Amino acid sequence: MSNNHRGLLLVVSSPSGAGKTTLCQRLRAEFPQLGFSVSYTTRAPRPGETHGVEYFFVDRETFTEMVARDEFAEYALVHTNNYGTSAPLVREALAAGNDLLFDIDFQGGRQLRAKFPHDVVLVFILPPSLGELERRLRARNTDAPEVIERRLRVAREELSHYGEYDYVIVNDDLDRAYDVLRAIYLSELHRTRRQREAAEAVLSGQQVLEIGGRLRIGGGRGKEGE
Ligand code: ADP
Ligand code: 5GP
Repeated sequence: MSNNHRGLLLVVSSPSGAGKTTLCQRLRAEFPQLGFSVSYTTRAPRPGETHGVEYFFVDRETFTEMVARDEFAEYALVHTNNYGTSAPLVREALAAGNDLLFDIDFQGGRQLRAKFPHDVVLVFILPPSLGELERRLRARNTDAPEVIERRLRVAREELSHYGEYDYVIVNDDLDRAYDVLRAIYLSELHRTRRQREAAEAVLSGQQVLEIGGRLRIGGGRGKEGE
């Protein structure tokens, strides 16, 4: 049995509060093969956040050293904090044929697209309105009022980059937005270049199964007459 299409890098971006964490968690729950790229950040952990789960929390000195050692596939300054994606994690996922999900901003999406043009799929989540974005940020209750003010100030700037993305989803009704996100993931998995191995396996007489978007290739029961 094998599953070795080249991994897909699914980037989801939005202004803070539009719902990307909620949507990404649902996608990971439905498709366990989709790994999550845990970023490095100099931001302080929020209550309930765990080192190594949401982020690797590091100080500025460590972050700067990692930049100098070229350990990031991309990095950016977002809301006064540094954020970066582990280069070895991305390389290993691609080599192993594992799909990776990224919750990163437009600067990161742009850098990953430039580095891995054939592997990156960029999805932008839009709030239904700026007023609803503010309501969600306040209701989430995870940020101090001045942090929320700053996030709202930069939201317009972030939203203005939607045109750099392959797909745009308005997250009004959560279930509907999720249906679109999962449809994008499944469609991208089924691009011809990611299905060549399956097609060639069928042609060579092997049996191919697909379970939850994941291919299982093996056995010889698929051959005509066997
Ligand atoms: P982000 O990761 O983009 O900052 P979150 O996923 O944390 O956003 O969502 C921000 C808040 O909005 C959370 O409290 C979440 O439960 C809520 N939320 C997400 N999607 C919707 C939706 N479609 N309708 C109403 N509330 C939502
Ligand atoms: P938060 O502090 O709310 O978790 O994230 C703030 C912003 O930083 C979000 O837009 C998030 O997508 C972005 N972000 C998180 N990790 C990374 C990363 O590794 N690289 C980049 N470029 N942005 C990131």
